[in-house]
Amino acid sequence: KDVSSPCEIRSTCPYCGVGCGVILRPDGMGGLTLRGDPDHPANYGRLCSKGSALGETVSLEGRVLAPQVNGQETDWDSALDLVASRFRDTIAAHGPDSVAFYVSGQLLNEDYYVANKLMKGFIGSANIDTNSRLCMASTVAGHKRAFGTDTVPGTYEDLEEADLIVLVGSNLAWCHPVLYQRILAARKERGAKLVVIDPRRTSSCDGAEMHLAIAPGGDVALFNGLLAAIARQGAVDHDFLAHVEGFDAALAAAEAQRLAPTGLSQDEMQAFFDLWIGTEKVVTIFSQGVNQSSSGTDKVNAITNCHLATGRIGKPGLGPFSVTGQPNAMGGREVGGLANMLACHLDLENATHRTAVQGFWDAPTIPQGAGLKAVDMFRAVGEGRIKALWIIHTNPAVSMPDADAVRAAIAGCDFVVVSDITGETDTARLADVLLPASAWAEKEGTVTNSDRTISRQRAALPVPGQARADWDILADVGRRMGWTSAFDFQSTAEIFREYAALSGIAGALGRDFDISGLADLSDSDYEALAPTRWPVSAGKQGGRFFADGKFFHDGGKAKMLALSQRAPVSALDTEHPFRLNTGRLRDQWHTMTRTARSPRLSAHRPEPFVEIHPEDAARLGIGASDLVRLKNATGSAILRARITSAQRPGELFAPMHWTGETGPTARIDALVPAVTDPVSGQPESKAATVSAAKVEAA
Ligand code: SF4
Repeated sequence: KDVSSPCEIRSTCPYCGVGCGVILRPDGMGGLTLRGDPDHPANYGRLCSKGSALGETVSLEGRVLAPQVNGQETDWDSALDLVASRFRDTIAAHGPDSVAFYVSGQLLNEDYYVANKLMKGFIGSANIDTNSRLCMASTVAGHKRAFGTDTVPGTYEDLEEADLIVLVGSNLAWCHPVLYQRILAARKERGAKLVVIDPRRTSSCDGAEMHLAIAPGGDVALFNGLLAAIARQGAVDHDFLAHVEGFDAALAAAEAQRLAPTGLSQDEMQAFFDLWIGTEKVVTIFSQGVNQSSSGTDKVNAITNCHLATGRIGKPGLGPFSVTGQPNAMGGREVGGLANMLACHLDLENATHRTAVQGFWDAPTIPQGAGLKAVDMFRAVGEGRIKALWIIHTNPAVSMPDADAVRAAIAGCDFVVVSDITGETDTARLADVLLPASAWAEKEGTVTNSDRTISRQRAALPVPGQARADWDILADVGRRMGWTSAFDFQSTAEIFREYAALSGIAGALGRDFDISGLADLSDSDYEALAPTRWPVSAGKQGGRFFADGKFFHDGGKAKMLALSQRAPVSALDTEHPFRLNTGRLRDQWHTMTRTARSPRLSAHRPEPFVEIHPEDAARLGIGASDLVRLKNATGSAILRARITSAQRPGELFAPMHWTGETGPTARIDALVPAVTDPVSGQPESKAATVSAAKVEAA
């Protein structure tokens, strides 16, 4: 494709799960300008600060442009022969579970599909997990428990049709800004109310009717309290309960837990209950404050319980709604990028599903159960059980919990391959083989956003140096490992058609994810594919799920869960008296490999910091802009103090973006313990316990 001449190309923003459409205009000299796509149903022309600065981030500075082995440039044949032979030899000597892929929500559906097919169908292990494990795994598990599949019931339009929006553990104004703008615009028109449930008073609270500064871990108790109030106030939809199992047990557990601590007063909770119960059209949006918890799955189900009990699901303007962090976290879930899923929302634990996928792929093998989830995967790397590891477009040496230990584990692994656009990440520096991947605006494929809309990403810039698309690199390794015809892909259109055809089998097996209506797209149809919300098949087209009261469990009913509040795993003590929350900033993305290239984005918060309540700061003798050392058993960090009453006393907040070498730096995930939700395997990234002390001038 000739992308050298100035023209306009429709694509998708590579940052958050809102999935905004962008129109790219290459300048013919390797740069581009862009604007929001007025026709894209995610954003209708809007962009946030990050999206509008994309043009400032596409320079080739810092790009890796040729394959490297042990830091020396080489050619593709040498690099990929080495990758294929080391993986093959490791599998021959130690079995398929001695190798692993750790991939990313930055991958496009087609990349993800090939990676998943290679690991699960041909290598024969389920040891492929994604950084979406740090982002959305609790929602996946909660959806599956409630609905039988990982189904997002509603659409973005529901947010605009709601009379009440409840944000739980979500700073939507910073983390999904265009969605927040859509809500604000709708509020202006319809007068919808906004409630924010978050320990911090964030920008999302500006203009909200109510901010409930809940204690960390209090969400299950709050929504159990809501369920009990729903029953007490006669708001149960008994007709809808014909479609639901588990109501009595869920209610009994909720009533038994009525006095569990939330950090909120009885009056605050009752005011919330009255508003929620008294407003038919309510959308409860949840994000990382719910997911990144050792009880994250229970939190998701506590929310869905309330919607199921009131029948507030599957209709316009109401329902539970998860917003995904990454541009293609949803696609990764659909394609089977998680260690406990097969492609197209088919289940690894289900023998019929395994047989169907193996047959479709004509694969020599298929794993019989789940592989290692991210935290367990890096633990296995550290213990030498994983001996060959391929990390694709993610920086676990910074972003995984217990990041110092993860960095040491990768450094000690026998054979590490990293695919990335830069060699300058903490993880890429540890690679034995570094593979140059093409970047956003250079590659073709599709992504799926938070409301199930599949959009094209299109190339607008030439691929620099020897860089190649991820699907192409993965398929090449598959062929070099001996599976020639299974990985004989020539284009993303071809991969997409195979994926869509497999989804038809999933649909026939009663799964939600079915895009078989796209399985016959010609190359030119694929090139022109407009944003399309799944499902797309005979008789099924976009829209909401569950309007008919039919769910995906055997028997067709949804399930309510009996839930009990659990405190965060890390306990406060005299040595570690502060609870540390971590999260995103408005103008940075992940470990800043792209956003740090934009001076105007970096100007928003130019250096790492920790937010601390004025009372705590005064007690510790910390003044504005002093340096503060945070410390616990897994790591330490030195950060600039920001004193703010937006924090609850005894709690701290620090952004997740900054990186650094060993020692006390701003790598905040070095202080996050590697504890996880027992159902989803998602780490508890917002509830570490730490000490805090002013760093005295030398
Ligand atoms: Fe990109 Fe998300 Fe901003 Fe939209 S809201 S422009 S997808 S970062």
